[in-house]
Amino acid sequence: MTGLHLTPTLAASGALGAILEIVITVAYLVGAVMFIFGLKMMNRVKDARRGNILSGIGMAIAVVATLINPEITGNPASLPKILIAAGLIIGGGIGYWQASTVPMTGMPQLVALFNGFGGLASLLVGWAEYTARPGEPVSSYTAFVISLAVLIGGVTLTGSLIAWAKLQEVMTGKPIVFPGMPVFNAALGIGALVLGILLTVNPANTTIFYALLGLSLVLGVLVTIPIGGADMPVVIALLNSYSGMAAGMAGFVLENMMLIVAGGLVGASGIILSMVMCKAMNRSLSNVLFGAMAAASGPKREGKTGEIKSLPAPDAYPVLEAASSVVFVPGYGMAVAQAQHVIKELAEQLEDHGCEVRFAIHPVAGRMPGHMNVLLAEASVSYDKLWEMDAINEVMEGVDVAVVVGANDTVNPEARHDKSSPIFGMPIIDVDKARQVFVLKRGKGTGFSGIENELFFYPNTTMIYGDAKETLATLVGEFKSAE
Ligand code: NAP
Repeated sequence: MTGLHLTPTLAASGALGAILEIVITVAYLVGAVMFIFGLKMMNRVKDARRGNILSGIGMAIAVVATLINPEITGNPASLPKILIAAGLIIGGGIGYWQASTVPMTGMPQLVALFNGFGGLASLLVGWAEYTARPGEPVSSYTAFVISLAVLIGGVTLTGSLIAWAKLQEVMTGKPIVFPGMPVFNAALGIGALVLGILLTVNPANTTIFYALLGLSLVLGVLVTIPIGGADMPVVIALLNSYSGMAAGMAGFVLENMMLIVAGGLVGASGIILSMVMCKAMNRSLSNVLFGAMAAASGPKREGKTGEIKSLPAPDAYPVLEAASSVVFVPGYGMAVAQAQHVIKELAEQLEDHGCEVRFAIHPVAGRMPGHMNVLLAEASVSYDKLWEMDAINEVMEGVDVAVVVGANDTVNPEARHDKSSPIFGMPIIDVDKARQVFVLKRGKGTGFSGIENELFFYPNTTMIYGDAKETLATLVGEFKSAE
């Protein structure tokens, strides 16, 4: 099997067609290998950027290989070249503009939209193939893969749009549920599968096809609205996986090896990422997907009482100046404040004073996997200073000062002991074990999970209220003026 569907046009063009087929197949293989290596390189922050470029080049090779296929561009029945060129320029332009202008905090929403468009593309491929030859029904096998491409693509499209709307706060982030919803959703899911089977048995029946298409779009909305905004990043990783599966199905529809390989890779990596995120939050995937309905009716928790100490930023200078080891613990607030550059400046000041500086990275700090790594890499913080949660926790007791920069849930000690807590069991960075904890945040705002943090009431914790970037800049100023 060459992996390329030998089209009638290619087959009819004799030796030239055979050569072209080999060229396209080899190009697809090279592209697929580049995807695999690119993905592997993304395991390490150091190589991630190059991995991304490698995968991008692989994709460019795949696009060119597809465009030189005579069925796409080289026969009277193929799409006008101007249309393809316009699609490439407009789509590429919008993608470039979006990716280069989106703030880091808006990245999850952008990924949600990209997933949604991936789902839409697969749905359209299935739809186009189904209606390509009027009066000539597709085979049962093709109807089967088309129904999967349309079903998964449709769910991915509308599910991703809801995820985007929740994160963008265009709609409420709260779970939207109605009585009997799980049963209703399950019935719709089963209904969609039944329609898929019916279409496979009777490919000529367009009513079944359009019913399946409509149902998949409704299903995408109904399975996503009951999930709270807080769990959206996991859902986005899952929808990413769906978009890959839908693309793989579109690959089967078109008999295109490249799409099948790329779809498989995205499908598998998306599901692995969802599982990793759930593990880091000590949640099961089913709890993320269906738990919100149960949590909405959970018991109300009492507010915490006690004294919270705070001091103005300049007063923290003497403590930091005297410290011989400092651990910075960044969280979502660092991303909001865009404090990554000034945190590095402060780290350098501390090091100039002979202090050992480390950065503790929680796997779900921020709003997407690797969020903190990306920001700190942007500020050129050296990788050897980044410590993973388990490693830093082993040495936390010997640390003089832990500086929490806009982190909240990921340092909340109640996750360790309070069984009634929504975050119970989530591994945290044990900043409370350091001799002194400074928490840099704007006020009494809660984190992602919406719960109070008992760390703020601990005797060794002192709050420094204000925007993290401004607080850190004040501290840098103190060091500089003391020189
Ligand atoms: P967090 O718990 O969301 O808390 C962020 C804190 O930053 C807030 O309490 C806020 O308090 C503070 N803040 C906001 N803007 C600030 C600014 N300009 N300057 C200073 N502080 C600012 O953050 P986290 O500790 O990083 O925890 C991440 C949460 O997201 C976890 O619950 C995790 O499970 C969840 N999550 C993460 C991912 C992921 O992939 N990373 C995925 C799914 C869920 P103030 O308003 O008082 O300033």
